[in-house]
Amino acid sequence: MKNSILYCSFCLKNQIEVTKLIIRPNVHICSECIIFCDQLIIKQRQKKKQVQRLKIITPKKMMFFLDQHVIGQNNAKKIISVAIYNHYKRIKWQLNNNINCDIQKSNILLIGKTGTGKTLIAKTIARKLKVPFVIVDATSLTEAGYIGDDIESIINNLLVSAENHKHKAERGIVYVDEIDKIAKKVESSFKVRDVSGEGVQQSLLKLFEGNIININQSNKKKTVKKQKVNINTKNILFMCGGAFVGLEEIIKKRLGEKNIGFKYKKKYIEGKNILHHVEVNDLIAYGLIPEFIGRLPIIASLNNLNQEDLLNILTKPQNALIKQYQKLFYLEGLKIIFDRKALLTIADLAFKQKSGARGLRMILESSMLEVMFYVPYIKNIKLCIITKEVISKNREPLLIFK
Ligand code: ADP
Repeated sequence: MKNSILYCSFCLKNQIEVTKLIIRPNVHICSECIIFCDQLIIKQRQKKKQVQRLKIITPKKMMFFLDQHVIGQNNAKKIISVAIYNHYKRIKWQLNNNINCDIQKSNILLIGKTGTGKTLIAKTIARKLKVPFVIVDATSLTEAGYIGDDIESIINNLLVSAENHKHKAERGIVYVDEIDKIAKKVESSFKVRDVSGEGVQQSLLKLFEGNIININQSNKKKTVKKQKVNINTKNILFMCGGAFVGLEEIIKKRLGEKNIGFKYKKKYIEGKNILHHVEVNDLIAYGLIPEFIGRLPIIASLNNLNQEDLLNILTKPQNALIKQYQKLFYLEGLKIIFDRKALLTIADLAFKQKSGARGLRMILESSMLEVMFYVPYIKNIKLCIITKEVISKNREPLLIFK
């Protein structure tokens, strides 16, 4: 039919309504439909790339990697390696099949004294997986409406860590430190915690459960208007860590009570890590609300570090403190050796300080101050030996000249 109006076979707009209409004998397509198809293809390609980029590391490989950085804590490392594998396997399955996965997300709770490696484990995992990572201090968080960091700021920081790539942020890891400090006030015979953290626990639930959080994307150029971004927290992994001072007594009491009239046999062995026996009810007694614990189904407890662990931490990990000092001296063209007795003294002192591996750095820093101040600038030195006396009595190191 001559002069009759032609229509796009897909959106049914006529040739006057669209910019261009491509005409074939039996089918016509408009420029808008072409653009739409093109965008669909780009999206599909991006998704495919995301799936390919998503690293899934088997528990064994993750454990091997952790072993190179974290000394001891084998039980915790194993639990976490499996949890991480399942978490990312679930995400990949979801991306591949384009449907919601019915395997639930498993956020992780790490319980252990300060300086035992909780943060280090979380950090190391994020590094291996190459996913965005942020550390948040639970004590700085407040319920919405109060002064302090609100929950949205966590996701904002994650987005910054993901260089503003929304899809990367949605697969990142958030480590919430000092989670025990937001336990609600519990009047127990052991300790009275003075933190009204229940509101913060409720707010965190919103994130843990998987919700869409609306945030203002921060822009480098301050003149550019801030953009609103919706971040889905469904696939963000939350790891929470805390020392839970007083929890051991709660567990001991429960185990003790259970065993009354039961041959008086203790269920735990004195000296072993009692935290391995932790149960949900102990955490509720400590002041975490049941819904909150319900969102942290994987619990890993870390052991206290003994002198041998501390000695190994000094020398064995890839970026061990001693290796760092050796590198510093190497950059000055010098060699430095730490006598075994010196290392034992550092480990011993740190053990007595009861601040886990944190003490090691402080002890080394103060003992090495003088050495770092003058030794690299003495001429013709071949070797500097740090003896026990350098650590314990602040004496001078042994110097061997060329
Ligand atoms: P926390 O358990 O309080 O989170 P961190 O993980 O922050 O402790 O550890 C504090 C410091 O001690 C870090 O520099 C870390 O490298 C070191 N450290 C702690 N535990 C270990 C460990 N098990 N293996 C190696 N280094 C450790």
